Amino acid sequence: MSKGHHKRDAMAERFAAADLANPIVDLPTDVRGCARCGVAVRMSTDPPTITATSISVAGPMAMTSAGQRFHRETILPLCPACTERREVAQRWADDEWTLAQRWGSLPVVVGRVWCALDGIVLAGGKPPESVRDVLLAAKHLGDIGNGAQWSLRFSPVLAQGAKPEQGTMRPWGHVAESVRTDARAAYAAMLLARVDQPIMRACPSRGCLYCGVGSVLALRSAEPWTPHMFTLAPIGGGQGRAGQASRAGFLCPTCERAYQDEGQANGMSALTRSLLVALGHREGRDGPPIASGLEAWCVTERPPSAEPFGWLSNLDRLRAEWGPRPESASQRRSRENREAAARKRSEAARAAMAADHARRVERDRAARG
Ligand SMILES: [Zn+2]
Ligand SMILES: [Zn+2]
Repeated sequence: MSKGHHKRDAMAERFAAADLANPIVDLPTDVRGCARCGVAVRMSTDPPTITATSISVAGPMAMTSAGQRFHRETILPLCPACTERREVAQRWADDEWTLAQRWGSLPVVVGRVWCALDGIVLAGGKPPESVRDVLLAAKHLGDIGNGAQWSLRFSPVLAQGAKPEQGTMRPWGHVAESVRTDARAAYAAMLLARVDQPIMRACPSRGCLYCGVGSVLALRSAEPWTPHMFTLAPIGGGQGRAGQASRAGFLCPTCERAYQDEGQANGMSALTRSLLVALGHREGRDGPPIASGLEAWCVTERPPSAEPFGWLSNLDRLRAEWGPRPESASQRRSRENREAAARKRSEAARAAMAADHARRVERDRAARG
């Protein structure tokens, strides 16, 4: 039997004897914890490595280094499972251009997807199968995966007592049960978001108190309608008019935003703001439209409306006056120039990425022989 085999048996015993309550163990000189999952990796097997840079140190040692800039680099290995996840992340980055477009660069894509994949492992979930899955996983599990890295013991701050020859006897053994619980909850939320579709959601009280719209497009899981009780006088209800002085009902998301933007003040400013949104009015023009004579839908006795403020008899005239202006010839030329330049930049970046990908494929092929 080879010497290597004996060594492996000794390691197996250590694994079997791992104390789950105290998961971080001191390892022999040749063995270090995987940078990602912390599991013990023998350096003589020539694993892929990363360099963790400590720019500060925790605990009493911080005092002795006062005045001097602390800097230490630690080589940490990657175990086969973590290496495999990096390759999966790299493939997503190479194959799905939209990810780099969204996140800015290939290394960022690889980093984010890799962390999301780690988060999925902690949750005991299944890896993503579509770009949409990748984006959802990054959103829900990326931070958890990022926060679980073993290398955080070294970078950016060297944790007290952290040494390279330490690790865990099982992957992610250093991760607290509470973090795993969070990961499972985040994974469940991700699954829910995956089946969540936008649908028309009817107003629980016929129409939006301000704009009168009867239903809005919103995710199945969302709560698009916000309940309110409004005094009618500030929103066109008038004094001495017959009927109630206030009305209970709901605001649609657009009107709720207008109401919030006006400091939660029910009044003509919030109502006008909401009307401007409905008209497609763009900021930056001179002054707001005159809102005199405007009434909120709830002041009137009308059926709900298919579009916001659709019941206003002068809506078309208001739109012509306050809606988006058709662009001038010079505005169109400068927009087209901007778009052409952006297209050119994006094509150049795509070509560079394709060349980079081809080089990597070539290198992998050469490495495999
Ligand atoms: Zn690992
Ligand atoms: Zn509304």
